[in-house]
Amino acid sequence: MKRKELLYTGKAKSVYATDDPQRLVLHFRNDTSAFDGLKKEALDRKGAVNNQFNAFIMTKLAEAGVPNHFESLIGEDESLVKRLTMFPVECVVRNIAAGGICKRLGVTEGIDLNPPTFEFFLKNDQLHDPMINEYHIRSFGWAQDSDVETMKSLTFRVNDVLKKLFSDAGLLLVDYKLEFGRFDNQILLGDEFTPDGCRLWDAETRKKLDKDRFRQGLGGVIEAYEEVARRLGVPLKFNA
Ligand code: 5GP
Repeated sequence: MKRKELLYTGKAKSVYATDDPQRLVLHFRNDTSAFDGLKKEALDRKGAVNNQFNAFIMTKLAEAGVPNHFESLIGEDESLVKRLTMFPVECVVRNIAAGGICKRLGVTEGIDLNPPTFEFFLKNDQLHDPMINEYHIRSFGWAQDSDVETMKSLTFRVNDVLKKLFSDAGLLLVDYKLEFGRFDNQILLGDEFTPDGCRLWDAETRKKLDKDRFRQGLGGVIEAYEEVARRLGVPLKFNA
């Protein structure tokens, strides 16, 4: 299916309409941003790597019973997806303390969180995606109680599936962010799962292999994403 008009330009992806009102094309661009868009750079191959990485993970998740929006790869940096009505919240699960939780609670990076912890954030760049709780979601009508339960249980199911997948590749899944939406009457995982929205460390050395390399200016960002893809067996293909 061919892409038609541009509907939305995000920080790293553009979203296009298609002939089918229920389907969209996601174009993964090379643009990389952090700190609410304050730090920006275009990184060669990033769009293609993230698109194909996301397709691999979404397919694994669907096979494991996590319904999601992914339909097919339609180009090296484009995928066809179902058009969801998104909830304006981000769901984060943390297996190991890093990033935001260390700043907020003053805990040391690297400590195991047992059991893993769960946080909701409001999707709002202007407000820097503030942390919210289930009462906020209920009071402001951002989602129904049953939707909240579904998002939590699917986010934890993703943890079971992906912790094992990454661990088999010698990687620690430190934390990740997911977004959900409604399609007909079902709640599906939407957005993307790539090293842009999760933290992955080498299990032996704890070397960072995710977007923290960009945020912290560590270099070798795409080389790290490709290393993760190679270890998982993602078949990366690039046009000449
Ligand atoms: P933190 O709260 O520590 O900044 O983020 C927790 C996890 O969620 C990290 O894996 C981070 O990459 C991801 N995450 C949180 N908010 C966003 C966001 O707005 N965009 C992206 N790409 N990832 C996010």
